[in-house]
Amino acid sequence: MNYDLNGIGMTSQRTRDRLIQRLREEGIHDENVLEVMRQTPRHIFVDEALASRSYEDTALPIGHGQTISQPYIVARMTELLLANGPLERVLEVGTGSGYQTAILSPFVEQVFTVERIAPLLEQAKEKHRALGLSNIRYLLSDGSWGWQQHAPFDAIIATAAPEEIPPELTEQLVDGGRLIIPHGKTQQRLSVIERDGDTLNTTDFDMVSFVPLVREK
Ligand code: SAH
Repeated sequence: MNYDLNGIGMTSQRTRDRLIQRLREEGIHDENVLEVMRQTPRHIFVDEALASRSYEDTALPIGHGQTISQPYIVARMTELLLANGPLERVLEVGTGSGYQTAILSPFVEQVFTVERIAPLLEQAKEKHRALGLSNIRYLLSDGSWGWQQHAPFDAIIATAAPEEIPPELTEQLVDGGRLIIPHGKTQQRLSVIERDGDTLNTTDFDMVSFVPLVREK
């Protein structure tokens, strides 16, 4: 499959630059994150019929009842993930369209990403191939168990929200590692949980709205 990586009209570089300026105004400070988002064509990660809306700061449907995350949230989570400097090994739970994975890829040595819906995972792989991203490993599975085989991770990012944070995820962090995760019952909050030996330190951030993290029986 060939993708129009450059874009035209509503997917052109000028439209993308406007989104980046807006994210900056909304308080995203990490210029390295903004630059990677400026260069990454979000429009190839959404359905062709919605491509003209891909540089609006909004979540969009990607089929199977799932959504591609809002650019502000992708920027915010990436910024929080990288706050203590570059990372070697990062686990992502909920590949979805693969857009967040693509934004992470240049910042870390190896991204491990887990998705439970097979066609979404296949499409994400194809897009990463088209962008020449080669440091991503994929697993079709329930990611609430983490990915034990490759643990521990320097950081874990979840892009679907559990009601309660699965202990497996914090257990798979290195000492000093951080988990970035939306969670909650009726309302969801984005939290960063840092592991300090056996202690977990939680810092709460924005209120958010993610699709649920589905736990297989
Ligand atoms: N970062 C993605 C967000 C996709 S939405 C993007 O920007 O496109 C969240 C994704 O998490 C969905 O694709 C959903 O299928 C997946 N998901 C939900 N529960 C999961 C689980 N237990 N394990 C793995 N993936 C899960």
